[in-house]
Amino acid sequence: MTLKTKNRTRAEEALSRVVSSPLTWTPRREDPFKTLIRTILSQNTSWQNEATAYGRLEETIGVTPNKLSTAKTSDIAKAIKPAGMYNLRSKTIKRAAADIIERFDGDLAPIVSKPYPEARETLMTLPGVGEKTADVVLLFNAGKQVLPVDRHIARITKRLELVPESAKYDEIRGALEEATQPDAYLDAHIKLIQFGRDTCRAQNPRCSTCALNDLCPYPRRAQPILPITKHPEPMPETQKRPQ
Ligand code: SF4
Repeated sequence: MTLKTKNRTRAEEALSRVVSSPLTWTPRREDPFKTLIRTILSQNTSWQNEATAYGRLEETIGVTPNKLSTAKTSDIAKAIKPAGMYNLRSKTIKRAAADIIERFDGDLAPIVSKPYPEARETLMTLPGVGEKTADVVLLFNAGKQVLPVDRHIARITKRLELVPESAKYDEIRGALEEATQPDAYLDAHIKLIQFGRDTCRAQNPRCSTCALNDLCPYPRRAQPILPITKHPEPMPETQKRPQ
């Protein structure tokens, strides 16, 4: 997608402000399989629950294709319970691990080092791997020039009206990639997530203190429309404020 000129300037300014904010957490550097499992666990859950579930999985079974493909589904489910949807997710994780052993000899490194479109397409043939999970693995583990979009990033981009409300994953990704330099994609991805968790939250976004307030139509749009009362009732004496 091509951003219209007006939106492009606003998008560039918004991204530049978010990217220049300090980072308050450190993303982990892991092998592609661990990133893949962590990202599958992060789908539709909070990062605290994902972190707890991943820690328990690592501690009780071990996050390797061999260990997860041979573990009992019920043991995986027990370990990842904090992430929610554990019965379904445990089956997905076991199937993905088994697939990686069978098709890729247990090693994702040669896959992620292929050119981006091919690597992404191949990763997306694995159970539980969609566009975001594939892009996260390719950005973090292979340094591919892609800016993955999670739910926080989608929300921010739509509130800023850089894309239509109906925009799908690749449209949002394309708009954001257009508004920043490829060597800043990793930084932009991490800091947009941080911004979504801390400021542009799903519920009660902190618009009044937000650094993007002057660029963002959302606070004006979200103002409640109050009914107009032509002849207000006189306030009872007991509710009057002292003057
Ligand atoms: S002004 Fe509000 S809606 Fe807009 S980016 Fe900031 S927190 Fe999000």
